[in-house]
Amino acid sequence: MKNVVIIGGGAAGMLAAVAAAKCGHQVHILEKNEKLGKKLFITGKGRCNVTNDCDVETLLAHVISNPKFMYSAFYGFTSQDMMKLLEEAGLALKTERGNRVFPVSDHSSDVIGTLTRLLNRLDVKIHRMCRATELLTESGHVCGVAYEQDDRDKSISADAVIVATGGLSYKTTGSTGDGYVFAREAGHKVTATMPSLVPLNIREDWCHKLQGLSLKNVRATFRSGKKVLYEELGEMLFTHYGVSGPLVLSGSAHIVSALAKGREITLSVDLKPALSFEQLDARILRDFDENKNKQFRNSLSGLLPSKLIPVIVEQSGIDPYLQVNEVSREQRQRLCGLLKGLTMTVDSARDYNEAVITRGGVSVKEVNPSTMESRLLGGLYFAGEVLDVDALTGGFNLQIAWSTAWLAGTSIE
Ligand SMILES: Cc1cc2nc3c(=O)[nH]c(=O)nc-3n(C[C@H](O)[C@H](O)[C@H](O)COP(=O)(O)OP(=O)(O)OC[C@H]3O[C@@H](n4cnc5c(N)ncnc54)[C@H](O)[C@@H]3O)c2cc1C
Repeated sequence: MKNVVIIGGGAAGMLAAVAAAKCGHQVHILEKNEKLGKKLFITGKGRCNVTNDCDVETLLAHVISNPKFMYSAFYGFTSQDMMKLLEEAGLALKTERGNRVFPVSDHSSDVIGTLTRLLNRLDVKIHRMCRATELLTESGHVCGVAYEQDDRDKSISADAVIVATGGLSYKTTGSTGDGYVFAREAGHKVTATMPSLVPLNIREDWCHKLQGLSLKNVRATFRSGKKVLYEELGEMLFTHYGVSGPLVLSGSAHIVSALAKGREITLSVDLKPALSFEQLDARILRDFDENKNKQFRNSLSGLLPSKLIPVIVEQSGIDPYLQVNEVSREQRQRLCGLLKGLTMTVDSARDYNEAVITRGGVSVKEVNPSTMESRLLGGLYFAGEVLDVDALTGGFNLQIAWSTAWLAGTSIE
């Protein structure tokens, strides 16, 4: 039986504790907040998209950074394993569109409650309001953790330490990047971090006028020069600074690294993806025919949401007061082009406070993918978002946390 100290009582920390305790170890969680799972609480808009009920190949396909590193962890503890663990602990689950798994109750607090009950049943010692400050080491091996509690410096000895401190997003949940400091102090490389699954600032002023407009069934294409970085159909939202919504968050995961390198990224929105250019042109001709005595600015209500009309009219360069029967073929084709590719420039990503996850983290090169143990310091393990691994939305990021945590917790000998 080993003394295992886990830094961080989030998704990864809680599951690593369950895994290590099931292996017979004495487990302690140090959590700086007053309660466990503060970030878990806000996941899935308070419903917690626990995982994605898919096979391992699909899991791997949704990981953006370092999918190969996740191979053993995903095969060792699959989505179905996580679902079984929660269900056996009494939490009923349901699967929604896109294989997204949620608690039947739609309350993330029930996921936290279930895991906490498991921790208690396994006699895991939970130390709340304890902020780990330093890894203690001896002869190339970790031997404990220094921490602060009630403004007092304390320490706890350990045969193994699992760092599960999360990333940098939504700081108020406790993710302040402490794990990166511990990793660096142990000699680990930490790759550049940046917000991902994040809304985007858009340069063009006209875009900001669309604040509040939500578009369904549009196609978004993100490009760097001519190269397409991401293209998908879905739903997006305009805000006072730019764009957000599911399509944009997913797109962001494919562009934040390029943005960080200073590349210019554009976003083109096809407002009518179900129609070809020619079909759209025919549709506009028909609308114009029905509205022939109207001015151009009043002729688009059958085609577009009202908020979008003034922007499209302005962007088309067509005189808004022109009678539609005077709109030339060339002008109409320009309008079609605009509707099939309303293009804007991505200025930057929003910051960590609005990002679902952190891209970058503890370099996977110095972590053993079969155990999650550091290759540099004996007895040190990493799990969850602190690692340089991130995935798309749909329950995949939590599955990264669960799988790496399980592997770390069960690898301690
Ligand atoms: C708004 C939002 C919604 C999300 N929704 C989903 C979703 O539905 N599905 C999904 O798969 N993913 C979702 N995610 C991502 C998911 O929450 C993370 O991937 C996951 O929480 C990472 O788990 P973790 O344990 O590594 O880190 P965290 O959950 O961030 O836990 C880290 C813990 O470590 C503690 N800690 C940090 N430093 C110290 C220290 N020095 N001492 C002691 N304790 C410390 C923190 O207080 C925190 O409790 C969402 C994220 C956000 C922000």
